[in-house]
Amino acid sequence: MNKKETRYLLGAALLILTLVACGGSDSSSTVDTDTTSASDTDNTQSDTQLGLDPDNFLTDALAQDISTTSCTLSDGTETQCYEIVINGVPSNNEIGPFCPTHIDDDETQGGVWFDGSGELYQLDGEFIVYTKTLYGDDWQLYDETTGEVYVTDTQVACEAAARPDVDPEYQNHCVQCDIEYYNGGVQQTFLIPVTPVALSNPEQVSADIGVALNGVVIAGPAPVSDILAANTIAAFDDCGGHINPVEGYHYHAALGCSDVITSVDGHANLIGYALDGYGIYAMLNSTGEEDYDLDECRGHSDDTRGYHYHAASAAENMFIGCYSGAQGSIEVAQ
Ligand SMILES: [Zn+2]
Ligand SMILES: [Zn+2]
Repeated sequence: MNKKETRYLLGAALLILTLVACGGSDSSSTVDTDTTSASDTDNTQSDTQLGLDPDNFLTDALAQDISTTSCTLSDGTETQCYEIVINGVPSNNEIGPFCPTHIDDDETQGGVWFDGSGELYQLDGEFIVYTKTLYGDDWQLYDETTGEVYVTDTQVACEAAARPDVDPEYQNHCVQCDIEYYNGGVQQTFLIPVTPVALSNPEQVSADIGVALNGVVIAGPAPVSDILAANTIAAFDDCGGHINPVEGYHYHAALGCSDVITSVDGHANLIGYALDGYGIYAMLNSTGEEDYDLDECRGHSDDTRGYHYHAASAAENMFIGCYSGAQGSIEVAQ
């Protein structure tokens, strides 16, 4: 209603701002005719940088309307950023389930697991038993008498297990936390550049790399070696997300849950934006292929989208390889 109108007006204002920004570096500079720049067929990256479109987010994913503010990027660039405040829970689907509770449970009663070795495992009772074969004889994630899986099913247990130095009491557990321990979602604020600033040397990915269109943090690789070293599985749900005490629910993989905008040209769907302002698209196009010539960050350019990334597969435990642009920032609002 009113909110939508505001969003529309905001979008229009930003479009104008973007057009002004593209037209010249400032008002006192020499004015080129628009027709010259528009008909320029030079295909360089800077000509096709489209950046973030606030209208692409699901309205219920946001705690407030997206606005713009001054910001400083990771390379020192002072510029304008979108301020995006997310509720911290997906607006389009439920969270979980994570751990199966019994070794007879089927795959609908648990989520998934990946350790970066190239496999995506369905987290059912059978997999819980299989961890002994997969990871070693000292693995025992369930009670051999009752078949019950050892799950961190209290806040104390989840917080003792979901930290780098896992409490020995919670080794050999399937780890999960409940979002209700954290007010039903952790609100976070992203500052993402309105106009991406390309870097000549890419920057390494950080703990959190961006935001999904349904209001969920897109995180960097899960620390699977630490998790496995404690004989634990930090279960993901079928969307590739799980909960930790610091940032609440977050994604470690793209499994289709934030594909809320279908590309019309057969290109993979947009799923969110990286902190540098470039779009992150799904891995596969509409015919199920990954036929892109990607750079080390998993990015490439086309005429429609400008520079953008394609997420890796869940089995790779990553979304993008690095940042091709200077990063904005993220902060937990608590
Ligand atoms: Zn995580
Ligand atoms: Zn692409």
